[in-house]
Amino acid sequence: MLSTDTIVAPATPPGEGGIGIIRMSGSRAVAFFAEVFRGKTTTPAKMKSHQLYLGGLYNGREELVDEVLAVIMRGPRSYTGEDVIEVHCHGGAQILRSVLDLFLETGARMAGPGEFTQRAFLNGRLDLAQAEAVIEVIRARSERASRVALDQLGGSLSREIYGFTGQIKDALVLLEAHIDFPDDEVGELDLSALLDPLQQVARQMRSLAESFDLGRVLREGISILILGRPNVGKSSLMNAILGESRAIVTEVAGTTRDTLEEQLVLAGFPVRLIDAAGVRDTHDPVEQEGVRRARDKATSADLVLMVVDGSAPLQEEDLLALELCRPEKTLIVINKSDQAQLCDTSRFVGFKHRIAVSAKYNQGVTALGEAIVRHLTEDSSLADNEGVVITERRHREALLGGIEALDGFFAAVDLTVPRECLAMDLREALGALGRITGETTPDEILEQVFGRFCIGK
Ligand code: GDP
Repeated sequence: MLSTDTIVAPATPPGEGGIGIIRMSGSRAVAFFAEVFRGKTTTPAKMKSHQLYLGGLYNGREELVDEVLAVIMRGPRSYTGEDVIEVHCHGGAQILRSVLDLFLETGARMAGPGEFTQRAFLNGRLDLAQAEAVIEVIRARSERASRVALDQLGGSLSREIYGFTGQIKDALVLLEAHIDFPDDEVGELDLSALLDPLQQVARQMRSLAESFDLGRVLREGISILILGRPNVGKSSLMNAILGESRAIVTEVAGTTRDTLEEQLVLAGFPVRLIDAAGVRDTHDPVEQEGVRRARDKATSADLVLMVVDGSAPLQEEDLLALELCRPEKTLIVINKSDQAQLCDTSRFVGFKHRIAVSAKYNQGVTALGEAIVRHLTEDSSLADNEGVVITERRHREALLGGIEALDGFFAAVDLTVPRECLAMDLREALGALGRITGETTPDEILEQVFGRFCIGK
């Protein structure tokens, strides 16, 4: 799977910018670069590794394509482990296209998505968990998410996994010694001595698998649904929370039909704030579809802000919406607190969290934000977790697979099963853990992992 052809791609996003970077990697990268670069002070062959040089890029007709700063990072001390060239051009779409074409004409090939990182993985510069962290660092939407991703890039998850595999390998070596040699040569096998450390490993693996609850939220964001019948002030509340008027506020009941979604960060968590269509019994097909979607979203949301109009008695539609809410995942928001209150709050027994606000006059909105944060951090799985957090479903599945194999070992250990079977359970557990760091990851999974990357990374 190792390929040594030379790949090239823009490393900066398309559009105008101060600079745009083209990156090239492979065994002929320096040679291709030397064909087109004229340095002000030296030639590419004499350029020191990891130092920037000023010069010009010239096409075959000796015309200047761009004036650039360029750096050669000679392998293996580079991102991919191969010779890497980065050319800092002027950040315009046409210039970048011309420079890219220039390198393609010299013989480089356009890189596929994630191909630079894939080479870093194949050349042993990163393991798979670290390679996956690269994309998480780029996509992180909150400070906490980027902290977790940077830790993983630094090897925190890999170290944890190697810790587990180390312990399991120790047990396996011992077991295999007793398979290969008779007990009178290597001494009686004390299976119970193997159990303690392996049970500890299984416990740690389980708690790492459970950290996915937090990891998923950091990666995908917490979904908060704003639910309620038409005209209670959902759009106004959304605007008040966002501090800007992006949702359309209207006087006509039933006009917020589509689900609107906005993103913000609350207490370090990326949050998706979703304004659902009003819940009401309606024969309007467009609105029925919206109501159906609101039901689905209420079921899957991490938190529902159930909005009622405090200035009016509760209506049938309020109760309909209330029925969709699970009390432990719901905050009752009694809106229009600036007006005389006519709403019968006894209907909210069973819902622990209630808060009065005026979305229109921005009263109580800060307290609502605080209540949301309290609710999120009360959920113990989302509390500040200083340990390693997994953010990939793939990692969770591999850990659960490993735990299952260890459970098989624990169940069999008391029985008089052949030791070869016990060894197989341990090998299976190692195989599952190896899928996280990439030792035993099938090629099609590798392709999927790197296929999620952007071109140029
Ligand atoms: P939605 O249909 O639930 O999204 O409701 P809107 O946000 O469109 O608001 C419906 C009406 O209620 C508008 O006329 C708003 O100005 C009004 N409204 C919203 N919040 C408040 C509030 O806190 N106090 C008062 N007095 N009126 C409000």
